[in-house]
Amino acid sequence: MRPDAFTALGLLALCPALVAAAPHESLHSDHYHQANTPTSHPPRSWRKLSDAIIQKVWHLENTQKTVTSDNAPIKGPSRDLLARYGNDIVLRFTITTADEASALAEAADTLFLDVWEFNSDWVDIRIAKDVVPSLLGLLPPSLQNAHVPLMQDLDLAQAIFSSLPSPSATQSDHDDHSSYSSHLTPPSRLKGKGHPFFQDYQPLSVINPWMSLMASMFTTHVRRISVGVTYEGREIPALRVGVHPTNREQTLLTRKTVLVTGGSHAREWISTSTVNYLAWTMINSYGKDREITRLLEQFDFVFVPTLNPDGYVYSWEVDRLWRKNRQPTSLRFCKGVDLDRSYSFHWDGDSTSTNPCSESFPGDQAFDGVESRAFSEWAKNETDNGVEFVGFIDLHSYSQQILYPYSYTCDEEPPSIEDLEELAMGLGKAIRTSRKGHAYKVTSACEGNVAMAKNGKKKVFPRIESAGGSALDWFYHELGVKFSFQIKLRDTGSYGFLLPKDNIVPTGNEIIDALLYLGRFMMGEVGVMKGAPSVEEVVMMKKKEGGEKAGEGEEVQEEEEQIEL
Ligand SMILES: [Zn+2]
Repeated sequence: MRPDAFTALGLLALCPALVAAAPHESLHSDHYHQANTPTSHPPRSWRKLSDAIIQKVWHLENTQKTVTSDNAPIKGPSRDLLARYGNDIVLRFTITTADEASALAEAADTLFLDVWEFNSDWVDIRIAKDVVPSLLGLLPPSLQNAHVPLMQDLDLAQAIFSSLPSPSATQSDHDDHSSYSSHLTPPSRLKGKGHPFFQDYQPLSVINPWMSLMASMFTTHVRRISVGVTYEGREIPALRVGVHPTNREQTLLTRKTVLVTGGSHAREWISTSTVNYLAWTMINSYGKDREITRLLEQFDFVFVPTLNPDGYVYSWEVDRLWRKNRQPTSLRFCKGVDLDRSYSFHWDGDSTSTNPCSESFPGDQAFDGVESRAFSEWAKNETDNGVEFVGFIDLHSYSQQILYPYSYTCDEEPPSIEDLEELAMGLGKAIRTSRKGHAYKVTSACEGNVAMAKNGKKKVFPRIESAGGSALDWFYHELGVKFSFQIKLRDTGSYGFLLPKDNIVPTGNEIIDALLYLGRFMMGEVGVMKGAPSVEEVVMMKKKEGGEKAGEGEEVQEEEEQIEL
């Protein structure tokens, strides 16, 4: 750790061990595995992927055994991994009063703690063990014992190690496979045996060529596009999936498009893998699955697996728990802007901590974040070129919540609150009734971003962190995307950001069901839009936009769902 950084933080007096809890600076790379570096993964994963696709395209039997690594199995985290995370734990504090929430928010801010997640009941904080006494010293007596460590049976370094691809993993014995095709209906949907790509989280160096491969293999309905360039000069890659009508009359229509994004926060790997899973499902089901085929004929879907490629790469190569992007700030040793606080709608950098060392540093001004600026400009440009964004699904982790606008405040209700609530409930139900689907809570993003009392009244507690400048609010309000949601994926805290990879496929499955529900909703088959005009009448509908809200939905749930622990 760097003394100069520490001094500049002005926190030395507080606690000498504090720096261990401060955001990590790049020390060196290549440290997750002792015997096998991340850079040795791509060729193997890539080969498995191409084999699987080639077999599928040519209808070959999958008789070939999975390629196995020549390297010896790796049993545990490397020394570097232990050095970086070995002293850290994640504590869950149970919150019952506004005073407690306030004290915890203040202490987390003072000590620059890494707040992993929070909701109405609890706050998860990652902290160096040595710093725990300092934290407790800042908290009221009621919180002294109101905390438990997460991942009890697994320390942080081990959990990180377990979330990395296993070099010797084989696909054939993965238990999701057997249930995978049998659970998908109709049977033609995704009948592929095994999906090597989704048995592990994948680094950008595999995701990028995978996307190119999708575009080159499915030329009828997939295009690889770029939605911007990062601070470090990487492309922000995306797949546009949809079947454009050739009928001249229809080409005059604006193209209704659904945006699905992930990876704004680098360490939320499940969001990146889920976007890829959704893309793959839609791509591969075109022409086989009636519902998906119809959806792709009427809508484009743009899948952006990581809005923060620099951060994602950094989370693979240096710090698994990195959250922000990688651009420099006014403090040399605290890089990175929180991209999901950087959008211009109610950007509130002035009213919250503007310390670049904060994990939710919003930048020095709105759209300081290179990637959020680039992405928003791309989106605006698209709308100028005949694209109408009708849906925005921004995937994050963790806590299993479906959040609708607004994020920045609970005092203002969005104009289309009824549609948003109804659709969110429908998405929640689609997920819960999905095969092996989990329960997701439905709430407004502002409530998801503050700790709240649960005694029946909507008593808003002080914010744990700022919630302005979100992509959710910007797309909803500034770009007018009617159906905008942020979904926080699995889990509810057992592993947090270090969700084991055997969740990749089940999480993908439950979210594809949500996406298909959104499709049915947009096509007027469920919910308030039931009975809406067909695509041929879209032009007429546009002229009357706003006048279609009638009738009651049929999928509304009465109460919020309980989180499943
Ligand atoms: Zn996030």
